Amino acid sequence: MTRRCFFVPEVASDTRVFDLPPRLSRQLEGVLRAKVGESIELLDGQGSVWACVVTGIRRGIVTVSLVGKLERPACESALPIVLGVGIVRSDTMDLVVRQAVEMGVLRLAFFRALRSQYGLRGKTAEKKRERWSKIASEANCQCGRTKKLEIEIFDDLGHFLTSCEGEERATEHTLKVFALEHEPGGGLKNLRSQTGPDIHRVLAVLGPEGGWDNVESSALIAAGFKTVSLGPRTLRLETAAVALISSIQLLWGDMDEGLFYASREEAPQARTQCKI
Ligand code: SAH
Repeated sequence: MTRRCFFVPEVASDTRVFDLPPRLSRQLEGVLRAKVGESIELLDGQGSVWACVVTGIRRGIVTVSLVGKLERPACESALPIVLGVGIVRSDTMDLVVRQAVEMGVLRLAFFRALRSQYGLRGKTAEKKRERWSKIASEANCQCGRTKKLEIEIFDDLGHFLTSCEGEERATEHTLKVFALEHEPGGGLKNLRSQTGPDIHRVLAVLGPEGGWDNVESSALIAAGFKTVSLGPRTLRLETAAVALISSIQLLWGDMDEGLFYASREEAPQARTQCKI
């Protein structure tokens, strides 16, 4: 049976028996039909995983007993990747959330692009965040990541770019790319031969299904983003997301030769071994 795990902001590790938050209790009792004696895992979203057993279920409150902390191999990417995506169809965004977790993305930002069919605000945005949090925690359980994917929603590309500025000032060696189809010659491998291996952070942006408006391409270039091609074929957004992130992880991140390193300190040596 697949491991059932859920995000709980903080697990009170000093209390052996405690009630789960109401929303999670309702999901376990009403939707997942959890049973007393069933094992579940709780992720605090910061890297800790706790094994628990359900000890009580009563009208909307599920009580669990803490069995102990689980050790998980570190599978966070040592390369912080921020993925920006123009808002598209709901099911496509759900898929991109799952893929972002599996591909080791740190932060996923949806923004209303000029060719997006709609924006996300207020209650609609709140509902989306809840849905995506569930999708992300299921993906975490399946792929073994213990850090929670940060998911944000912006009214437009400009707001998203502004949100990146602060961190950018704090991090040297930031790579900023946006995927643009039919861009002759601008592949990521080409870019790596220019930048070398020493990239400490990546901002990668994908347009909506309707593609980029020229105003947006110009704004991205003005903000220091380089265009990259993902090959001669026009990819659907969900395909482009995996193609872009896996290429970045291969060239600068943790998909090179299957090396696993828990921190940046270990990473550069491993990365320089990658023969491209
Ligand atoms: N406009 C396309 C689909 C765009 S898919 C169509 O007519 O079907 C959404 C995004 O994926 C694009 O905005 C772009 O950022 C990215 N993308 C798709 N194919 C790409 C390619 N071959 N190279 C670079 N980016 C691509």
